[in-house]
Amino acid sequence: MSTLPNLEEELTEIDALRSRLESLVHDARRNEVTLRKFQNLELRLLSCSSLAELMQLIAHKSKSTFGWDVLTIVLHDEHQDIKRLLRDVGEDTSRYPELIFTSDILNLKKYYGRYKKPLLGAFDINHHEDLFLSDRKYPRSVALLPLFRKNKLLGSLNLGSFQLHRFNKQDATDFLEHLAAVLATCLDTTIAQEKLKQAGLTDALTGVNNRRFFDQRLNEELSRAQRLQSSVSCLFIDIDHFKVVNDSFGHETGDTVLTKVAELIRAQLRNIDVVARYGGEEFAVLLEQSGQDYAEEVAQRIQQSISETTFVDGEDCSLTVSIGVSTLEKPDTKKNTFDLGRELLRKADKALYQAKQDGRNKVVLHSTI
Ligand code: GH3
Ligand code: MG
Ligand code: MG
Repeated sequence: MSTLPNLEEELTEIDALRSRLESLVHDARRNEVTLRKFQNLELRLLSCSSLAELMQLIAHKSKSTFGWDVLTIVLHDEHQDIKRLLRDVGEDTSRYPELIFTSDILNLKKYYGRYKKPLLGAFDINHHEDLFLSDRKYPRSVALLPLFRKNKLLGSLNLGSFQLHRFNKQDATDFLEHLAAVLATCLDTTIAQEKLKQAGLTDALTGVNNRRFFDQRLNEELSRAQRLQSSVSCLFIDIDHFKVVNDSFGHETGDTVLTKVAELIRAQLRNIDVVARYGGEEFAVLLEQSGQDYAEEVAQRIQQSISETTFVDGEDCSLTVSIGVSTLEKPDTKKNTFDLGRELLRKADKALYQAKQDGRNKVVLHSTI
């Protein structure tokens, strides 16, 4: 008789074990689904070939797949090199506001130090404000993932949820850690790829863009001007009697002078404008959405700044430039952009030739010849 209660006890125990097992199986299945989702995202991240593609995937696709309400990436960019690089290869970073640049690595190190694991818990505005966008709704719980590559902290992937308990301090973080490692690798390699792309579009001596890049941008700019019915201007700048610089001071000094001239031109332009070394000692400038008056003013500023500069310390090495200016107002939408580009360049070149004919050190507008 005394065995009955024992049997009951055993049955209750078996029930408890069974439900524990069911819950483990359920957890394992759920984990497997999550693992697949992470693996899928990581494979797609690894096949991205540009930062734009990477951002598109991580900021939009991953957010919806995992139901993360908020997502940002903070990248360490001490001298704005990455930002400049992206601009130079024609990427518009304003298209992905989720990418935040910080010049100070300490801003990130204060979260992680040497600790390489994700940090999960409640959002704290006094602590986490820099990692999220202030013009969007702040999350209530966060997962902060340090992006380490070869022991170097590159940035931070910041996930947020509007639910207070979506990310908890004690949660397992294996999947997130793996994602962070893959993302860090992808960021590092796409930035290296963008650098290569940039090298193909940059003049090795002066560091400004090359003719290939200029022609590419000219096309894009003209199609935009056609669409918006706006104006585009072009300057052709040629150094006067540059051969004399080489002959008097040597080719190496000639190279340094060319680099300095490129810098002086760049200094007179807006960020959106393009300057390229178009030939040996000839530069071309593309002024977006600019009419003739503005182009003439820029040309005169360039002419003045170059003529006021001493190029070789202690030597009488002053220079002048001749500049041809052309403008296309409201480009004809029936013409193709390639022909329009050729027309704009031909006119600037003709105006430059006129400036040389008129005695050099001149700005000539094509419309006046
Ligand atoms: P002009 O006023 O008619 O333009 O006279 P110029 O002497 O500037 O023009 P020209 O076309 O006779 O000579 C251009 C010179 O630019 C000759 C060439 O050696 C020099 N040059 C071209 N590319 C480079 C370069 O990369 N480095 C150096 N140091 N010189 C260069
Ligand atoms: Mg010249
Ligand atoms: Mg020349």
